[in-house]
Amino acid sequence: MNSLPCQGCKGLCCGPVPVTEQELKGLKKKIKAMPFQQRNGLENQHRYFGTCIFYDLDNDKCGVHSARPAVCRAFGLHANLVCFRKPEAAAAGNWMADNDPVGVLSVDFTWKDFK
Ligand code: SF4
Repeated sequence: MNSLPCQGCKGLCCGPVPVTEQELKGLKKKIKAMPFQQRNGLENQHRYFGTCIFYDLDNDKCGVHSARPAVCRAFGLHANLVCFRKPEAAAAGNWMADNDPVGVLSVDFTWKDFK
């Protein structure tokens, strides 16, 4: 279980992340299923420069948690993805993606791609 101390970091580790085709599909599904007000609220938040487009700054958490990409799930738990607030959690070896990414979320894919 991921028990990283994310609260309070305000998305510091949530920058542009690589996404696979499958992850992109999952994210699109997740965003489309959101009630309009929630989706609109998430889209229009003022984030720090470089923060992931899906970071929910108002609530200090990932806004698409159940559909987040594999690298986000792996973060903090692998030797090459260390959380500086809890480095001891990075007990697993280096993380490697199972599939090639089709682009980078927040750079190649922005909110306009999820409508
Ligand atoms: S998808 Fe969620 S966990 Fe991944 S970088 Fe974006 S806000 Fe962070």
